[in-house]
Amino acid sequence: MKVTVFGIGYVGLVQAAVMAEVGHEVVCVDIDQDKVNRLKQGHIPIFEPGLTPLVKSNYEAGRVDFTTDAAHGVAHGEVIFIAVGTPPDEDGAADLKYVLAVAETIATHMDSHKFVINKSTVPVGTADKVKAMMAHTLSYANKSMTFDVLSNPEFLKEGAAVNDCMRPDRIILGTDSESAEKKLRELYSPFNRNHDKIIVMDIRSAELTKYAANCMLATKISFMNEMSNLAEVFGADIENVRKGIGSDPRIGYQFIYPGCGYGGSCFPKDVQALARSASAAGYTARVLEAVEAVNYSQKEKLFEYIYKHFSGDLKGKTVALWGLSFKPNTDDMREASSRVLMEKLWAAGASVKAYDPEAMEETQRIYGSRDDLALMGTKEAALDGADFLVICTEWQSFRAPDFELIKQKLSMPLLFDGRNLFEPTLMMEYGLHYYAIGRGLSV
Ligand code: NAD
Repeated sequence: MKVTVFGIGYVGLVQAAVMAEVGHEVVCVDIDQDKVNRLKQGHIPIFEPGLTPLVKSNYEAGRVDFTTDAAHGVAHGEVIFIAVGTPPDEDGAADLKYVLAVAETIATHMDSHKFVINKSTVPVGTADKVKAMMAHTLSYANKSMTFDVLSNPEFLKEGAAVNDCMRPDRIILGTDSESAEKKLRELYSPFNRNHDKIIVMDIRSAELTKYAANCMLATKISFMNEMSNLAEVFGADIENVRKGIGSDPRIGYQFIYPGCGYGGSCFPKDVQALARSASAAGYTARVLEAVEAVNYSQKEKLFEYIYKHFSGDLKGKTVALWGLSFKPNTDDMREASSRVLMEKLWAAGASVKAYDPEAMEETQRIYGSRDDLALMGTKEAALDGADFLVICTEWQSFRAPDFELIKQKLSMPLLFDGRNLFEPTLMMEYGLHYYAIGRGLSV
């Protein structure tokens, strides 16, 4: 099938690559000329396990191509995905300008029927806006082509995106058209062989399903972080509590890890966007507002521990920081907890020696060169000349470090762990002063 994808980001590029891999002919359109040029030269703009060989082999086989030529993209695909960003506007509501710009572009260039599939995360009612924009543009140009607009939200996880798209848990289709459902079933049939994963529903429910899923996951995290704060207040250990509640099958062990807050491009913005669109519709989403507020303060938690430990005297301190990306297996730094920490440390007069397996380039891009940030080639090098260590991201390679070396290299045997990677008793045996989240302020 001929498929066009507008937006070559985390969602669009991965989706395009897996579609090409199963034999569809895919054209990707982006407004970023540099990104398109680099992709054509084999440079994959994001780190995502398994993505580079997939994109390269399909590009070489001619099954996927990259362009900024929107007219060519629209002419190519009978199915056109919208996978552009929906960043927050000044109020935190989802900004639809990129989505609507693509809708207008499609209508401007189309000369036959198109199935327009929205994959971006968008507020309920956006499909109606896309339809209206397309209808208006067509009528302005005196064109009378027909089109279908569907909602097909994306559930991939950064860090596991290729696998998630190759073997999706579910494919949500929001449509009111039988022919559109048939077309999408055919498009997705290579990913739907084991059992039927396609759930068809009305468009508004599909749009809300995406927000509901992300908000539920964010709620689990903020709930556990609230419990970790209570564990500190009451002198309990959140890790015991976690295991205790996870053993209830109605709760389960998944996604109930306490930590230094959630980040990334999705949870913060989607919780905020749903709360804002609820309030615009006259409804106060109190749970969502609380989820957001808890996360906001949780991201400051590590700095609070550090600040208290040093009674606010951080001037001239050098901090070794392991982990910059918002979670492991990605180079994505959007809304990462490490950024809140670094910015607070800098404001307090400390400097940072940081290491991350994948996000160093992105950190450099965001912060440029500054005297109080050194990006180090290994996690051990980040310890050289540092006073203490902070861990912000739970990369696998941080889980069993050489504690003797850590102690030897740091000027103080002090470790702040934002992801609860280690046992406090073991840290005590190594002679490390250890702070973790919700495990007693320090041991
Ligand atoms: P991204 O910022 O990585 O990529 C968006 C791309 O769209 C950019 O390359 C940008 O240049 C391009 N673009 C903007 N306007 C365009 C236009 N008019 N024509 C063509 N290209 C244009 O975004 P992303 O992380 O891939 O997210 C895209 C959408 O998918 C968002 O709504 C997001 O909430 C949602 N989503 C993201 C994830 C994730 O893990 N990143 C998961 C599920 C859903």
